[in-house]
Amino acid sequence: MPLEIIRYPHPTLRHTSKTIKRVDAELRRIVREMFDRMYEAQGVGLAANQVGLPLRLFVVNLEGQPGAGEELVFLNPVISMPRGSSESEEGCLSLPGLYGPVVRPKQVRISAYNLSGEEFRGDLNGLFARVVQHELDHLDGVLFTDRMSEEALEERREKLLEFERDYETARQAGQLPSIEENAAHLAEWESRYC
Ligand code: ZN
Repeated sequence: MPLEIIRYPHPTLRHTSKTIKRVDAELRRIVREMFDRMYEAQGVGLAANQVGLPLRLFVVNLEGQPGAGEELVFLNPVISMPRGSSESEEGCLSLPGLYGPVVRPKQVRISAYNLSGEEFRGDLNGLFARVVQHELDHLDGVLFTDRMSEEALEERREKLLEFERDYETARQAGQLPSIEENAAHLAEWESRYC
C-alpha cells in the first residue's frame, strides 16, 4: 500500500514513536517514498508518524523539491543545547492550509543516525533548526498548534474544527481504520523495527 500523509486529528499523530533498532530494504524504500510524498505536498520535512509509522525517523529537504537541496534522513534524533528564542510562522502537512506563529529556540544541536547506521551531529539555526524541532515534536506526539499561544489558537479554531469534522466524516464512512485496527498496525511496525 502506498504511504499516505495522515491529517489531524488522526490518533497516530499523538503517538510517541519508538527507537529504531534495525534498518532493512523495506525501511529504505519507505524513506524514499516519504521524500516523494513530502515533495508532492510541497513540504520541507516529514515525520514517520505522519505517514502512519510509529518510528523515530524524519526526513528533511529545506529546498522542498527533488533534485535541489540535500535529502537528509534522521533516525533516532536527539536535540540538545537549545539557545535563544525566535518566533516564526509554521505550517504542517498534517494540517494543510493552517499556519501560525510558534516560538522556539533559535539554535539547537542535533544528533541522529543515517540509514547506514552512522551517527552525525550538527549545530543548526534559522529555518533548519526550526524544521528539525517541528519534526522531532511529531515523534513525541506534539503538534505545532500545541505550541501556539491561546490567542493564535483561538483565531484558528474554525479551521481546526473543520479538520475534526472531516476526520469524523471519513471515519463514519469507513475510510479510516478503527482505534483497535490502528493500534494493531502500530504494534506490528514496532515489533518489526523497534
Ligand atoms: Zn508537521
